[in-house]
Amino acid sequence: MSLSKRISQIQPSATLGITSKARAMAKQGIDVISFGAGEPDFDTPDYIKQAGLDAIKAGKTKYTQSAGTLELRQAICDKLSSIDKIDYTPKDIIVSNGAKHSLYNIFQAICDKGDEVITVAPYWVSYVEMIRLAEAIPVILRPAEGEGFKITAESLAGAITSKTKAVIINSPSNPSGCLYTRDELYDIVCLLKGKGIRVISDEIYNRLVYDGLKAVSCASLGREGKDMTVIVNGVSKTYAMTGWRIGYIASNDTSLTSAIANLQDHSSSNPCSISQEAALAAISSDESSVSMMRDEFKKRRDYMVKRIKAMKSVSCLEPKGAFYCFVNVSVIGHDTLKIADRLLEDARVAVVPGEGFGCPGYIRLSFATSMKLIKEGLDRIEKWLKQ
Ligand code: PMP
Ligand code: GLU
Repeated sequence: MSLSKRISQIQPSATLGITSKARAMAKQGIDVISFGAGEPDFDTPDYIKQAGLDAIKAGKTKYTQSAGTLELRQAICDKLSSIDKIDYTPKDIIVSNGAKHSLYNIFQAICDKGDEVITVAPYWVSYVEMIRLAEAIPVILRPAEGEGFKITAESLAGAITSKTKAVIINSPSNPSGCLYTRDELYDIVCLLKGKGIRVISDEIYNRLVYDGLKAVSCASLGREGKDMTVIVNGVSKTYAMTGWRIGYIASNDTSLTSAIANLQDHSSSNPCSISQEAALAAISSDESSVSMMRDEFKKRRDYMVKRIKAMKSVSCLEPKGAFYCFVNVSVIGHDTLKIADRLLEDARVAVVPGEGFGCPGYIRLSFATSMKLIKEGLDRIEKWLKQ
């Protein structure tokens, strides 16, 4: 009995793969330090957990609207308006089972066989697989490390064809940590104006930006910017809620939001009702827990970057946001699957090989783990490099 061609072509997730390998080793009693999956090591704040418990007790355990409760969608609009200065109404919001699900739905909704979606390497592992699952073609732009791994309107122009359906902008980026400025995004919006191409703006790390910088959304760049942009975000990273599985899209294109609501009606139905109540508490609160986590991530970033810069044969750009260092190890080799394997076997440190992000020659180190483990893990890498 055979499987579909679509499903047979998808590659295993490099991020989730390395994490389960490291977890399996730890279970066997092996002392492994994981710089693998990007997930905040902080616990979900208590007031959010309490909202989940209260939801269970209050019997909020039934189906909700597939697109999410009105209260949650209104709270998302309020947050987008107060912090990002972009106005939406609840009909523009679709809540899903994590931002990953939101992205999957978008590609299903906008792509036909042979359509093209432009994505920038290093890209987050799941984009290309999700695009292929929609029978579309990922068109990959490869800005150099010297360009901060960022595309420009000019380089984007050369990749646009009559088949282009969308461009993914992930700022700050997983894995490079690069952050686009308002001017850079404005040039991209001007280029795309009138072309019928969407910007899929993955803003999942937009609250985790350092050095007083701010993440800008293309949707905040005038009428055209808002019309062409589909915002993707969620509570996983900002509120340390990865397991609760709540993500969302915001778009004023009602044909897109109704299509995705319809898709959810027939595929997943509503995201977990209890998680929605917890997400409501998270999104409606002030952002003090977010600033605490951001301050801690910044300390760890500074430490990790300093240590990497002091090591021979490796280097990295300073990430402006998210919680990863994307380390250039090309002096040692380009087969980073092998390098990551050796690091795990010899040094007992789990890292994600660049191949998963479309960038062999690099490894990704997550600093969403304690300072103590970061120090110990970097000591091990340094020693391994010397040997
Ligand atoms: N986009 C990026 C860039 C990510 O790193 C992640 C990490 N999981 C996601 C989307 C999806 O997040 P989630 O499904 O947990 O909301
Ligand atoms: N997004 C995180 C990462 O890049 C979590 C794992 C995943 O969903 O791929 O590590």
